[in-house]
Formats: sequence, C-alpha cells, structure tokens
Amino acid sequence: RAGQVCRLVAVEGPQVGDLNIWNLHNPRERFWASRTRQIHGAHVTTYDRLWSCLPYLRPLVTLIADTIPRTPTPAGGRCHDLLGTRCDPYLYKLLDDRDFNVTCHNNLTRAIAPYHLTELDVHDVLNVFQVTGLDPVHEIYFMEPSPAKKGDYLEFFAEIDVLCALSACPSGDLSAWGWDGESGGGDPLATCKPLGVEVYDVPPALLDGWRSPQPVQVRSVHDAPLI
Ligand SMILES: [Zn+2]
Repeated sequence: RAGQVCRLVAVEGPQVGDLNIWNLHNPRERFWASRTRQIHGAHVTTYDRLWSCLPYLRPLVTLIADTIPRTPTPAGGRCHDLLGTRCDPYLYKLLDDRDFNVTCHNNLTRAIAPYHLTELDVHDVLNVFQVTGLDPVHEIYFMEPSPAKKGDYLEFFAEIDVLCALSACPSGDLSAWGWDGESGGGDPLATCKPLGVEVYDVPPALLDGWRSPQPVQVRSVHDAPLI
C-alpha cells in the first residue's frame, strides 16, 4: 500500500529475482524499465525510482536501501539490472527446443493469475541481485554471478498502492546459467534459493505532509501541433 516499505531479501544467499510492479487499481499502469533506465541508469540503487509507463509517468516506488556494493566488477558489471528482461519459455523453445515451464515469465504469470491478470500483463522486469553489463566493444549483454550474501536486501517505499510480483529465477545465482549448458557451469536449478519479501508500516508521523505522486497530465496526445 502507498506509504508502506517493502524489503526484498536474499534470505539464504545469492539468488536473482525478477520484479514486476503494477498500479494495484489499474494494471495498465505498470513499471516502465526503459524510461527508468533513461532517468536513473541501467542499474538502480538507493534513491532511484521505478517509473510507470505512459500515459501516466510517475514513480511507483522509490528505492530507499540497498546493501549490495555499488563498485563495478572488473568487467564493468553492476547490480540490480534494467538492461535485460525475464527469462521465458518461448526463448528456451526457440533455442533449445526445450519445454521449460518454471521461467520467470511463467512464475510471474502464475503469481498474478489470482488478480485476473495474464501473461500479457507481464512486462520488462527489474532484475534484483543480478549483475549485468555491456561489453565495451560490441555492447553485448553479459551476466555475472550474483554478489548477494545471506541477508542482503533491496528496499523500496511504495509511492502508490502497488501490486508486485517477484520470481526467484530458475537460473539461481547465475553462476551456472547458459542455454543448454553453454556456460559449462552445471545445473542452474541447483543454485536456486528462496527470496524473502517483507512489508513494513511506516510510523504515521513520518508521512506527515507526504502525498502520492499523480500521473503527468498533458492536454491531449491527439491534437495536431499548434501553429
Ligand atoms: Zn529468470
């Protein structure tokens, strides 16, 4: 709910999570990864905000705590990724001709079914505890093992009432990810761990004078330009 705090916790050690967020009362308003990336950068941390799509454009949540170090890896990787997206069964089928039904896309779809939402409502994610980057020559996306230690967390303040869905990625801590064993690292499912979700009320006095942000109001997107 608006004004509450939510903490995503690596309760048993490194594990990547795929996060989707909607306006609880209007699922057409949902997290917009690419605009958030434009505003804050390709990896987010404390005081960055997760923005909603058009025609709304407001912060759904504000990140308020992050225990993962912000120093880039030697390869330039950083944590809490907005470059990539969720793993999905269509890509496994296309690349490996493999039926795999516990991808993040599947998990997110199942999680939101009780809210009468479908896979069409699943959108580009924030990859929490996930280290990624682009190689400096060809800008090819890469992933590195999650640096999360037991008890590490990412915490956010809900700016409006939100529906959140979090998938513990079947690629686990990304130490063994790869298509059809490409990385040679073994079975990623063996590296999977649970993620914890905690929700806290904020002392009411701290919210004195605070109000939820409103969507940006434009006069019309259909009008012809004024001469
Ligand atoms: Zn995944």
